[in-house]
Amino acid sequence: MIDFGYSRIESACIDVDKHNDSLLNSLVKKDSDILTCMACGSCAATCTAGVYQPMNLRRVILHIQRGNEQEEIKQTAHCMFCGKCILVCPRGINTRPLLTAIRTYNSR
Ligand code: SF4
Ligand code: SF4
Repeated sequence: MIDFGYSRIESACIDVDKHNDSLLNSLVKKDSDILTCMACGSCAATCTAGVYQPMNLRRVILHIQRGNEQEEIKQTAHCMFCGKCILVCPRGINTRPLLTAIRTYNSR
């Protein structure tokens, strides 16, 4: 194996055999907002639920974009829909409808 001087971060790898973009596609059909997320983490840093529970919207979106959705979307059950993440999102993503759609998908 060639040594490039760096190694892979396993959590950042996309396993194409397990890739499932059905949730991403269904969200994009309703609103393409999710595609504009730049994973800045402002939402996670200010999240009311995240103080007490494992709730990290940046991570949820990132995993949905990577088609690695199953475990991460369960976190959205902790969201309190307070809307703080909408206020801080530099991309102006309307996160509450997005979170509602993710939770609805998760409860199917
Ligand atoms: S709406 Fe949900 S994800 Fe956004 S800050 Fe409030 S609890 Fe966190
Ligand atoms: S604040 Fe907006 S752009 Fe930043 S990670 Fe959250 S949803 Fe994405």
